Amino acid sequence: MLPGTRFRIALAAIAFFMSANSFASSHAPLEVDELAPGVFVHVGAHKALDAQGHDDIANLGFVVGTRCVAVIDTGGSVRTGRALLAAVRVRTALPVCHVISTHGHVDHVLGNAAFRGDGTAFTGHANLAASLERSRELFARDYADDLEPAGDASAIVAPTNAVTGTQQLDLGGRTLTLRAWPLSHTDADLSVFDDASGTLWTGDLLFRERLPAIEGSATGWLAVDSELARLPGVRHVVPGHGAITADLAGALTRQDAYLRTLVDDIRAALKRGDAMQDVIVKAGHAQRRDWQLWDETHPRNVARVYQALEWE
Ligand SMILES: [Zn+2]
Repeated sequence: MLPGTRFRIALAAIAFFMSANSFASSHAPLEVDELAPGVFVHVGAHKALDAQGHDDIANLGFVVGTRCVAVIDTGGSVRTGRALLAAVRVRTALPVCHVISTHGHVDHVLGNAAFRGDGTAFTGHANLAASLERSRELFARDYADDLEPAGDASAIVAPTNAVTGTQQLDLGGRTLTLRAWPLSHTDADLSVFDDASGTLWTGDLLFRERLPAIEGSATGWLAVDSELARLPGVRHVVPGHGAITADLAGALTRQDAYLRTLVDDIRAALKRGDAMQDVIVKAGHAQRRDWQLWDETHPRNVARVYQALEWE
């Protein structure tokens, strides 16, 4: 053995264990449940967008075919995206052929960068590219630590595949049907239906427990909900936020109760000529006890709906 060789082996061993440890800590797999064969879901926590852990608040997951994997939403940081990728790798060595974004909100898309490379397609509503472009500076500034490198706007991945109407993705042995919806939660909402398991991923077209946030149109959303309720063959529903359910109609009814009350109250207030400040205090309040994160979301919803209905 040459002088110093043993020392170099020791150094190499230390370096190996250090990198193995950092691999384990930065790539610890996200906790996922197998909802149906080959369908894995991670349920996010109900936290505000500025709270600790805000990068893990949306429902995420993946569907495994015989040929490749589709990931559906990737979380609110590259960190969360890597943890989701680690969860994929625990279950399968198949390539990730599609990363599907259900819309452009920060808690659903910042993990996309973890999946760049290896021919992965990034798929979303035809309006997703514009939606992300509008948010790019804001995300890089307000969520700098959720990007890698920190604050780097180029870590926000632009879609490579745009969906208008419907589009099917073949994963081998199962087909995902993507559907682009008109203005509702946002202007770029996409649902995903897995025919093999009857699983519908609604993205933020469905909120449970956590108050729905309206960026698009409350009346548009109500119209979309009545179409969602008629989709055939749905056995499992993965909402954008909240618990998984088999009862699509029940979950939509509850959400519609909030949206409907808000629209009706604000229409009545506009008829009376109430100022927006008064409307924010009163409109929709019969629904308050049914929802979490009310104070963080409801005032903005009122302002949005008030402005939209003012011009009816
Ligand atoms: Zn959203």
